[in-house]
Amino acid sequence: MLAKAHGKISTVHGVVLRNLDDIKLIRELESDLDLDIWRAGLPGVKDAYIMVRPQFKEKFLERLDEAGIQHYVHNKDVVRALDDFEARFNQWKLRRNNDAIYNTYPRYGEIEAYLDRLGREYPNIVTVVNAGNSYEGRPMKYVKISTTNFEDSTKPIYFMDAAMHSREWVTPPVALYTIHRLVEDLRAEDRDLLENIDWVIMPVFNPDGWEFSHVENRMWRRSRSFNASISPICYGADLNRNFDIFFGTFSVSSNPCSDIYPGPFAFSEVESRNVRDMLYLHLDRIQIYMNMHSYGNFILYGFDNNTLPHNVAQLHYVAAAMGAHIDARKMADAPYYAVGNSNYVLYGASGTSQDYAQAIGVPFAITLELPEFDGYNFLVPPEYIEQINTETYAGIAETARLSYLFYRDRL
Ligand SMILES: [Zn+2]
Repeated sequence: MLAKAHGKISTVHGVVLRNLDDIKLIRELESDLDLDIWRAGLPGVKDAYIMVRPQFKEKFLERLDEAGIQHYVHNKDVVRALDDFEARFNQWKLRRNNDAIYNTYPRYGEIEAYLDRLGREYPNIVTVVNAGNSYEGRPMKYVKISTTNFEDSTKPIYFMDAAMHSREWVTPPVALYTIHRLVEDLRAEDRDLLENIDWVIMPVFNPDGWEFSHVENRMWRRSRSFNASISPICYGADLNRNFDIFFGTFSVSSNPCSDIYPGPFAFSEVESRNVRDMLYLHLDRIQIYMNMHSYGNFILYGFDNNTLPHNVAQLHYVAAAMGAHIDARKMADAPYYAVGNSNYVLYGASGTSQDYAQAIGVPFAITLELPEFDGYNFLVPPEYIEQINTETYAGIAETARLSYLFYRDRL
């Protein structure tokens, strides 16, 4: 079932990047040949992984050869990888029946039910809010966690969202685990996180895509809006190109079927509008905006257009501290995090929520690309969720503490 609609997908290629020119060429080919960049890579550190549709494969490899760029086949059968993942996930669900919601890949209804239950059981600290409905009418639920009902203006707000790109399945578990640790399993050493900070956590930014990735196409990334006058066959837009900042100017494709199609205009998608409104609702106190993605072990900040925010020294400090705290707990053979400006470390993209949040005044707007385990790409086996949850939570806790210190400084 998950592999459905993938009959046309062929291969994923590893590309050995040497320098920024190679990255530029890849970005150019991305829109020309409708490439799906699974991993952007880092010159001299890690190769890029690029999925190519069969009709463009020959042209793609030709262009790499012309430029003298080395490449190899990383995954010769994507459909089989999807089937393997599905089999493994089904076994996991059977074996771990009734396991905690943050240790699996839940359906959207289960996530809603969990948030609602916390709202009922912990009414003094948890408030469940609907930010507005998604295109297909699902409530975009988030929790506000606070010991003072969000009324104490001396507290910073930590704003976190996940699953903006629906195929990045390992991101909602981290958001749910963070909620769990703050509400159901608050440990003595973490009391400050609950008492000093107000939290806004949205586990699924793109609920329509999330459900679609569970029942139709595991590799679905975008929203699910439809407008026949834009395209009679392709749905949705890339929500992380849809924000009103450098909109439509770089790392986008005008092809409505592309995974980096930004939409017809900024904030054309109701999901990005809803999150924008959430940001403005709390803007006076949001200290951190944490936008979670998978995968690649990156902690990134703006701006994507080759300029730096005025507070970049502090911003880098917070981002690097996060990486260090996660890496201290990582699995021995897992990669280390790379930290820096998104355009420098990875690639600049226009219309991102990270840049938008930074530009409207959030001091620390960060994109987190959760870990990768070689070969699994987006298909992180469920056995790894617990490890990713606990190590990432350590990084989140550290950034929360720093945000509190910096916020108190500001008052
Ligand atoms: Zn993503």
